[in-house]
Amino acid sequence: MSHERLRDDVAAAARGLAHEGLLVGTAGNVSARLDDLVAVTASGVVLAGCRPEDVTVVSLAGAVVEGELRPTSELSLHLGLYADTPAAAVVHTHAPYSTALACVLDELPVVHYQQLLLGGAVRVAPYARFGTPELAAAVRTALDGRQAALLANHGSVAVGGSLDAAVDNALLLEWLAALHHRASALGAPRLLTQEEQDDVIRAAISTGYGTVQRLDTEEDE
Ligand SMILES: [Zn+2]
Repeated sequence: MSHERLRDDVAAAARGLAHEGLLVGTAGNVSARLDDLVAVTASGVVLAGCRPEDVTVVSLAGAVVEGELRPTSELSLHLGLYADTPAAAVVHTHAPYSTALACVLDELPVVHYQQLLLGGAVRVAPYARFGTPELAAAVRTALDGRQAALLANHGSVAVGGSLDAAVDNALLLEWLAALHHRASALGAPRLLTQEEQDDVIRAAISTGYGTVQRLDTEEDE
């Protein structure tokens, strides 16, 4: 894959997340890694109209390799995750429900089994000012063993083994945050026990949950 393709893909992902309501105005940023380069949305870009030229290519150390625009102010958060984790893409949003929960909760507990796709309960990284190394470090810690984290009084971060996976994880987190919000309006949400979570993971592994399966393939059970 070329730089051009990577910039196209990041721009398309940003537009798609804006269309879904997760990126509003200029708030949020998206990046994807290819070998030792990272394509990341530029600072101040209206993400619903993000074009490939609004995506800047940098080295893993943050030096601009291609593009005319200054990268997002959260560049160190993105680069820190590429340095310390196998993430191939990073999505940062100020999505409405994720951000609302991040203003109240210390953790988004598991109320629905689909949350296990994110690795379990989603941690809320302690508040630190945007663009700081403190915020980047807090997010790295909160993401340990997880595909997503909430940022206290700020928003969300999702990672993935591909750009599509990071986008899906950001969308799933926002859906779960909305679910928690709606359920909480009715009463205290009932949580899945560890035993119930373990049972879901075993069943998902044995049945290939979440994958498209042809009718003529044999089932395990
Ligand atoms: Zn932000």
